[in-house]
Amino acid sequence: MNLQIALNALRTLLFPLRANCMGCGAATGCREDWICPACRQALTEGWVGASPPPEGIDAAAFAYVYHGAAVGLVSRLKYGGVYRLAGFMGGDMARAYRFIHPTGADCVTCVPMHPKRLTRRGYNHAALLARELAARVDLPFVELLERVRDTPQQAKLEDDARRSNMSGAFRGLEAARGRRVLLVDDVCTTGSTATACARALRAAGAGAVCLVCYAKARG
Ligand SMILES: [Zn+2]
Repeated sequence: MNLQIALNALRTLLFPLRANCMGCGAATGCREDWICPACRQALTEGWVGASPPPEGIDAAAFAYVYHGAAVGLVSRLKYGGVYRLAGFMGGDMARAYRFIHPTGADCVTCVPMHPKRLTRRGYNHAALLARELAARVDLPFVELLERVRDTPQQAKLEDDARRSNMSGAFRGLEAARGRRVLLVDDVCTTGSTATACARALRAAGAGAVCLVCYAKARG
């Protein structure tokens, strides 16, 4: 167990999971739920469903606009070590996937994290979401991609830099040959990460590639 995982476990013990809203951090109103009624309402209003796919992707669906409560949820899953949020968020991603279900994926995979970053952070939040989604849509989760280049965090880059940042960052694994893939990530901003993953999957012999993310940046 590395230090990050140990600290996260300690934080979970000290601060019970549902004492605060996982969307806005408010201290009241969400004992029975992960989020408070106001965040629930905001998420409902930000529902997306099927959406025009990024380049190289056959179909795409997103649960929510990346705004307000959705930002809080992604952040607490990604940096706060609240692993169990993946189940809550994966349920909404499964609902979004049903809008593109006819694309007929036969497995679920996720945007991989570079091994160095994985060691530092202790877990890949996209893999947690992908496993939860896979279980809900009755498809196997399979690792089909590896990150061959550690890239600066996308969140810190401008659009053009995001695209060049991602080029050549991924390699498709042998297991991708002949698969129809449902690719999962937390947030889609320009789509450049998904496009680079799709290119790597196809180079490894995959057929269709569709995409489900928890949230989509306004664009
Ligand atoms: Zn809230």
